[in-house]
Amino acid sequence: MNYQKELDRLLGGIPAGKNSLLLHCCCAPCSSYCLEYLREYFRITVFFFNPNITEQAEYDKRAAEEKRLIALYNEQAQSGNFDGMHSTGAAQRIEIIEGRYCPQDFFEMARGYEQCREGGERCLRCYEQRLRETAKTAAHGKFDFFTTTLSISPLKNAEALNEIGGRLAEEYGVPFLHSDFKKKNGYKRSIELSARFGLYRQDYCGCVYSKAERERKKAECRKQI
Ligand code: SF4
Repeated sequence: MNYQKELDRLLGGIPAGKNSLLLHCCCAPCSSYCLEYLREYFRITVFFFNPNITEQAEYDKRAAEEKRLIALYNEQAQSGNFDGMHSTGAAQRIEIIEGRYCPQDFFEMARGYEQCREGGERCLRCYEQRLRETAKTAAHGKFDFFTTTLSISPLKNAEALNEIGGRLAEEYGVPFLHSDFKKKNGYKRSIELSARFGLYRQDYCGCVYSKAERERKKAECRKQI
């Protein structure tokens, strides 16, 4: 399925600003484009739920940066000054819910899958853990839709994310917004926006295994020089 086309079709058929969206966000850089794009259509509440981030200090840094970005976007919406942003002026205020930080739940979920490479089975389980909590929170809060920023990363499997989202939508009774945010130059735009707002961009996904994989790759590169 072309998830971007699916999203375009849906966005073309709903009145701007009427529907609420619970948007799972993994970090500020990935949120930057998704929020710029989706705030034109939805009343967004960001759901920052990321038990995959192993270190408390790293978690705090990413959570603080997410809040800083939202405050910046809310200033724009309040002042009506969208200079340099892709906006029709319809963008609305964004709210945030910070989920429970529970890295022990992540480690329980990842048990037996520690050796998987990034993108493998451990990651699929990690997507589901985060999306399940998002769907549950969306149902509880009576949101019209839920989705995640995760598909913006070239390292994330959009097909798997959309399959999981669709399955959880049926289970919790809240529609999943199908998407592949890396399309339409979404990833490139997230880099531009991150530079513009000086956002902290981590160079690994979040868990201790992705950090080790990053270190391994760096060491291999050093050897080749
Ligand atoms: S690499 Fe990223 S997606 Fe995969 S398990 Fe670790 S934190 Fe989750």
